Amino acid sequence: MKKLKKWIIIVLLFGILIYWLPLLFLKLDVQPDENYPEDTYLDTIDNKSALIIVAHHDDSYGSVAAAKWLCSQGWDVSAFYFKAAPFLKDSVREVNGINSAEKVRNLIGLREFTLIDQPLRRDSPVSDINVPYSEFATTFRIDTIESVIENLIAVHQPSVIFTTDDIIGLYGHSDHVFVSRAILNVSKRIKSNDAFPVQLIFQYVMPPSEAEGVMNKYLKLHSFGTPWRIRKLIRERGFSESIYNTAKKIYHCDGMPLPDIQFRIDTLSKYKRRFLESWAPSEKKNIRRFIPFCYLYPHWIYFKMFNYEYFRVIEIQNQNDN
Ligand SMILES: [Zn+2]
Repeated sequence: MKKLKKWIIIVLLFGILIYWLPLLFLKLDVQPDENYPEDTYLDTIDNKSALIIVAHHDDSYGSVAAAKWLCSQGWDVSAFYFKAAPFLKDSVREVNGINSAEKVRNLIGLREFTLIDQPLRRDSPVSDINVPYSEFATTFRIDTIESVIENLIAVHQPSVIFTTDDIIGLYGHSDHVFVSRAILNVSKRIKSNDAFPVQLIFQYVMPPSEAEGVMNKYLKLHSFGTPWRIRKLIRERGFSESIYNTAKKIYHCDGMPLPDIQFRIDTLSKYKRRFLESWAPSEKKNIRRFIPFCYLYPHWIYFKMFNYEYFRVIEIQNQNDN
């Protein structure tokens, strides 16, 4: 009996140790160690209207706490995302996305979280992730998507637009780059118009230490679960590196652009967690790949380490014409 007790205690202690090991990994290898100025932009804007425009529904994760805070301050916030490709119409993924987006709309208090019925791509496979800039014109439906964005801006009159970055698109996804560039193109084209409402574009990014930790350390750990399509892509293109490193070469950059500001999410972390819970199991599988161990710990432990959303801020009204 004594022996059995001893073994139970050993197994329990071992289990506890295993449970906390990922947290140690996150602490040592992923938690950002940079500091940026706290956001002072959002509090000073009179026109309290914002849009989140992203390629895919789950890309809104990076600005979800900021969006929740804006809604609590009386802002009118709506979110939009696109179909990845024409042949995905009515797929399970699309239906799951619509259901999850509705849950997120309620959770955050968004006016709407809507799938735009326009595919981003002409007919290239969605598994072709790192499309070079030079192939954007032949891959993406630039004119259509830009006119959709122009229309969204005209209807919603946002002072701020949240999106992903236009250099490497978070981990190197060209859909993200394309949508972000389309927003910038529209803004640059019509900013000279006095009635143009957009003042700021907030691009969700990670500080370099977090980006390298997630993309080059965690993803290697996680690569056993890499979807076959990405494995195939890596094999076909002869890449033995992470998607992120490959994208750095294709987009000629050192990684995501540096943040200009950080937005503290202390009291908002439970919404961030509930956002993650709102997705269908198939989406969660994908989310797990880029938000390490995000379902393993309570939000008040996990987000103590990841206590900020980081943004590169582009001031549209003050930009030079170049
Ligand atoms: Zn995405």
